[in-house]
Amino acid sequence: MDIKTDVCNGCGQCVIVCPVQAIRMVDNKAVIDEELCVECSVCYRNANCPVNAIRMKRLKWPRVIRVPFSNVIATHKVTGVPGRGTEEMKTNDVTNRFNIEEIGVSIELGRPGIGTRLENIELFTTRLSKIGVTYEEKSPVTALIVDDKGHINQEIKEQRVLSAIIEFKIPDKKLPQILEVIRKVDKEIDTVFSVGIVSRIKDNNTKEIMNRVSQLGFQVRPNAKINIGLGRP
Ligand code: SF4
Ligand code: SF4
Repeated sequence: MDIKTDVCNGCGQCVIVCPVQAIRMVDNKAVIDEELCVECSVCYRNANCPVNAIRMKRLKWPRVIRVPFSNVIATHKVTGVPGRGTEEMKTNDVTNRFNIEEIGVSIELGRPGIGTRLENIELFTTRLSKIGVTYEEKSPVTALIVDDKGHINQEIKEQRVLSAIIEFKIPDKKLPQILEVIRKVDKEIDTVFSVGIVSRIKDNNTKEIMNRVSQLGFQVRPNAKINIGLGRP
């Protein structure tokens, strides 16, 4: 993103909307911190700049990788998936991505206000690959993994994004190993992350997975979200 400082009138509207505080006022002109900017385009779309001083720049590799992980209306070129993860995780009742003896896991790194460097993905994926997980093919993060050891493309590691979601599934019995990885990474990582677990209900026992996760020492927050109209004929 680019701000034409010769046109900017210093109204400050773009400063307020930036989700990672990458814009500051210098001598009554808005200036973008290139390192902090995640290329989300929120300032361009939502600041209502009165003098049209905010312009989208043509981004080069590797900086351009920031866009699909930060701009909610961008589509990832490799996976063809808009947004940072795949919707199918949330709609397992119609997609059957996760079977009865499987567990789906999402790990979302970074949030508005904080963001993350893509290198943080490796803290998880190098450990997860050792355990043996099945990464979701259509997830934008999976497209960054370059080998079976879970390393990601070196060229993009320094890039800062709003958030990135690692999506994978495991056989049910590997749950303790996955939670152990999460516990270890929590001590090393420099951003926030949240973990989602998708499990099918067995024998009408809706609390089974929650109880197992609690017994392994994690606090469970059973959030609910209903996506209406996603059923398939
Ligand atoms: S919204 Fe436009 S005029 Fe206002 S501070 Fe930002 S760039 Fe300058
Ligand atoms: S593109 Fe996003 S991160 Fe960059 S300055 Fe604009 S609002 Fe902030």
